[in-house]
Amino acid sequence: MRPQECIPASLIMEKKLTIQLMKIVADTTVDGPGWRTSVYCAGCRHACQGCHNPETWPFTAGQCVSIDEIMEELRYAEGDITFSGGDPMYQPEAFTELARRIREELHKGIWCYTGFRYEQVAADPMMSRMLPYLDVLVDGPFIEAKKSLDLLFRGSSNQRLIDVQKSLKAGKVVEFEYDPYPTFD
Ligand code: SF4
Repeated sequence: MRPQECIPASLIMEKKLTIQLMKIVADTTVDGPGWRTSVYCAGCRHACQGCHNPETWPFTAGQCVSIDEIMEELRYAEGDITFSGGDPMYQPEAFTELARRIREELHKGIWCYTGFRYEQVAADPMMSRMLPYLDVLVDGPFIEAKKSLDLLFRGSSNQRLIDVQKSLKAGKVVEFEYDPYPTFD
C-alpha cells in the first residue's frame, strides 16, 4: 500500500491512549544493547526504498491496543525497551505517554527508532515531548545507497545513535558512544 493511502496521522494521534500496534517482541538483541523488548507500531510515511518492514506502513495495520494492555505485557519483560515500527513518531502523544509510564512505573531505559532527523523531532511541539523519556534516538530514514552490514543497531550510515539526554542538555546533537567490548579495570 502506498503511504498516501493511509489514514491521516492526525486521526491516529487523536487516539491518545491507544497505540496502533504490530507486535511486541521479547528477548531481542538487534534493537539496542543487551536483551530487550521491542514495541513495533504501525504507520510510516517515510517510504524508504529498501525498507525491511513495508507491511507496517499503513496506519490501519496491526491492531489498536490500549497503553494499559501494553504496560501489562512490558511489566514482565526482560531488559530495556525499544520503540520501532513503522515510525513511533507518527503516534507522538500515545508513545510519549507509554514512555512516561515505562520510566516512572518500570524504571526501564528506552531507545526509539524514527525516520525523522533528531532536529525535526526536537523542533516539533508534539514529537519533542517524547525526548525527555528517551535514552537513545536512532534517527533518519533508511537510505539504501548508504546501507552497511557493519553498522550496529542501524541499517544505513546516515542514521545516527543519538544520546538524547546529553543532546537536550547541550542543545545540539551528541552521538551515543557505545562500546560493544568494554574493558573493566
Ligand atoms: S522509516 Fe523505517 S519503517 Fe519507515 S519506511 Fe523508513 S525504514 Fe521503513
